[in-house]
Amino acid sequence: KKWVYLFEEGNANMKELLGGKGAGLAEMTNIGLPVPQGFTVTTEACTEYYNQNKKLSDEIIDQINNNLVILESKCEKKFGNAENPLLVSVRSGAKFSMPGMMDTILNLGLNDETVAGIAKSTNNERFAFDSYRRFIQMFGDVVQEISKDKFDKILDDAKEKNGYKDDTELTAADLKAVVVAYKKIVKEETGKDFPLDPKEQLLMAIEAVFRSWNNNRAISYRNMNDIPHDIGTAVNVQSMVYGNMGDDCGTGVAFTRNPATGQKKLFGEFLINAQGEDVVAGIRTPKNIDDLKDIMPAVYKQFHETAELLENHYKDMQDIEFTIEKNKLYMLQTRTGKRTAAAALCAAVDMVEEGLITKEEAILRLDPLSLDQLLHPTFEEAALKAAALLGTGLPASPGAAMGKIYFTAEAVCAAAANGEETLLVRKETSPEDIEGMNAANGILTARGGMTSHAAVVARGMGKCCVAGCEAIKVDEAAKRFSVGGQIFNEGDYISLNGSTGKVYKGSIKTVTPELSGHFGKIMEWADEFRTLGVRTNADTPRDASVAVRFGAEGVGLCRTEHMFFDEARLPSVRRMILSDTKELREKALAEILPMQKEDFIGIYKALEGRPVTVRLLDPPLHEFLPTEDKDIEALAQDMGLNKVDMLTVINGLEEFNPMLGHRGCRLAITYPEIAEMQTRAIMEAAIEVKEACGFNIVPEIMIPLVGINEELTYLDKVVRNTAEIVKAEKKSDIKYLIGTMMEIPRATLIADKIAETAEFFSFGTNDLTQMTYGFSRDDAGKFITDYKDKGILPNDPFQSIDVEGVGKLVEMGVTLGRKTKPDLKIGVCGEHGGDPKSIYFFHKAGLSYVSCSPFRVPIARLAAAQAAL
Ligand code: ADP
Ligand code: MG
Ligand code: MG
Repeated sequence: KKWVYLFEEGNANMKELLGGKGAGLAEMTNIGLPVPQGFTVTTEACTEYYNQNKKLSDEIIDQINNNLVILESKCEKKFGNAENPLLVSVRSGAKFSMPGMMDTILNLGLNDETVAGIAKSTNNERFAFDSYRRFIQMFGDVVQEISKDKFDKILDDAKEKNGYKDDTELTAADLKAVVVAYKKIVKEETGKDFPLDPKEQLLMAIEAVFRSWNNNRAISYRNMNDIPHDIGTAVNVQSMVYGNMGDDCGTGVAFTRNPATGQKKLFGEFLINAQGEDVVAGIRTPKNIDDLKDIMPAVYKQFHETAELLENHYKDMQDIEFTIEKNKLYMLQTRTGKRTAAAALCAAVDMVEEGLITKEEAILRLDPLSLDQLLHPTFEEAALKAAALLGTGLPASPGAAMGKIYFTAEAVCAAAANGEETLLVRKETSPEDIEGMNAANGILTARGGMTSHAAVVARGMGKCCVAGCEAIKVDEAAKRFSVGGQIFNEGDYISLNGSTGKVYKGSIKTVTPELSGHFGKIMEWADEFRTLGVRTNADTPRDASVAVRFGAEGVGLCRTEHMFFDEARLPSVRRMILSDTKELREKALAEILPMQKEDFIGIYKALEGRPVTVRLLDPPLHEFLPTEDKDIEALAQDMGLNKVDMLTVINGLEEFNPMLGHRGCRLAITYPEIAEMQTRAIMEAAIEVKEACGFNIVPEIMIPLVGINEELTYLDKVVRNTAEIVKAEKKSDIKYLIGTMMEIPRATLIADKIAETAEFFSFGTNDLTQMTYGFSRDDAGKFITDYKDKGILPNDPFQSIDVEGVGKLVEMGVTLGRKTKPDLKIGVCGEHGGDPKSIYFFHKAGLSYVSCSPFRVPIARLAAAQAAL
């Protein structure tokens, strides 16, 4: 088996076998760039090393030695030769770049004899001993696991003793003394002399690099970045070039474009007379790459051209490492540059306009979720570094927020009205908290999952929210929370990152991003490619117009219950619920009608003729009832009841399992007058706006939680009758559609029957997931993490659709529904409508559109385009 490849034997496509660094070195070698010669020991050899109980097999060792001989003859130097020694670097490099996580050793091959040879052949004794002391230090650290500090201390002492500021001031004699002291440390720490045989050094170093694959920082980096643990690292053995031979030498790193902004301009740093990690290690302050133009104009020109060549070759932004030896440029590494979301967007658009890549490539290259970074405030980087983490919850709604904490909606509203920056902290939120949520900069809850009330509402508002932060113990009555032994009282500052779920102590400065022209371009291109429609979930004219600005093509879900929670309306709503006769209920409903109508008028206007799906009342009625004593008393008085009777009525509405109780279409079946009132409000609003503004409005009335065909046929009649009455009253010929939610598994099983009545479907994947799994979406947060940790679930099915199970129901619903009505319009309005992985599935399943919260609309547009490509 071939375990070792010369650079010229590899290419860019061999990342898996040669690692990213090895593949890059091979590719650069083959396109004729100045790369120091070398060879790569494969990732398979790493796996083999672990399989053999951390031993290199004889076959691997033989191949290493054979390639070493080839390298010697190419370089016309000999490993361990006293006159003309070959020195090499031993560099780690896995398939996925793991910057700084594994180890590299430079100047290997030095010993007491070869160091003299180097000094003589380069006529530079200082350089030879500087290289030697670096080698011992790196070898001691990486191979022999001797603490770096021990070596650093000796170097620092030597500088201090001589009054030097910079390590370039150390003379040859100083460095010789350092080498002696370093060797002494090695002897003390390992009980053995520093290994002087270069071949022994090489094998020890290769093994150490293989071992570094499993050091703690590499393991946690892989965990954080979803990199598998079993793919191993390759090792690159490369002849050394020297950036530390004098002032005509140097080393540096550069990006072909600015990785923070995407601007097309070389971006990087270098150091004169330095080696390897000096630039990033912060030993000296590096210079801007632009300065190289003045210091070494010819080298700069060559580097600039090479960078451009590499970018054109790879058709992407490159992150390049280079070294200059006696005014000659060497390329040591190239890889795709990591970049911010803003830079990714900017570079992608620019590259299309430069003709480097196609629009399709640009679209596919972007991470839809990263667009979030561009739409929401973020923390200032420097301020974030200094911040103390208090705990981590679910990243329920992205963005960064800071402010003083308040524990009730009223307190937040009052403080915000005074111009304070506020955060609402609650055990969990309920619909009564809406105004406080709206006034606060952000929301923190101790309980609840990704589809909890706080999460759903905050996403709708585009407001930062961390939900289910279990570490935080909230005492709402005492107006404080405790976490890890610290107490935070009302008015104390904390900061929330809704994109990561992290909660910090104190106030961290935030910055609000601006939407660039590049953003618009990408969205425009995305729209060219996607076939899936993108609508929004919006309950208010404000949310709806935000969504339209982000490109929503309609409202896929307008939840009417949020309108019921308005403080001015609650009394009428409560009277409606508690009325014991139809007459009284109709009277209360008549009070609500004009208000509902007003809302729909606002939304129809904001949508300017785009379609709007309105869902009839969904939640169980007791959610609207008062819980606090003073509110109960007020309501009793309002209704002419005594408090005890009032409580009896309220308690009578209590349910054991409200999620599976009297909600959705079941309410309208008991109280058709609610559906009648809502239909009237929708129809009247539509007719008025149509006439006033000339928009061609076709109201879409959606009946929730249908599981039985007869539920739908019954309510279809109620809604249709009312709609026809309104049309006749207003002498309007407006068209309208009556459809249903697909959110009860049974409905998807009989979708063919349901489609006989329904004029459209909308999959409510939150409820469908909840009922398919039998997981309460408000309680699942407690155990889903364990499920993920133990490999029982790959991810939270409320975040990303479960293709295997829930997805099968969706597919069945689509197939059966369209069997009855071939061009049935079918959408999705659960939280999954804004999740790129789920969107990919919905596209394949043939849905007409997805509907998501306003701030997710751009993400959905991009993801839908990617799904189509
Ligand atoms: P990392 O993966 O952490 O970036 P590298 O293997 O790229 O580690 O090595 C770090 C640095 O060491 C390189 O950027 C380069 O400056 C220096 N280096 C590595 N190999 C050589 C070599 N053959 N000649 C000169 N310098 C080298
Ligand atoms: Mg590197
Ligand atoms: Mg539902």
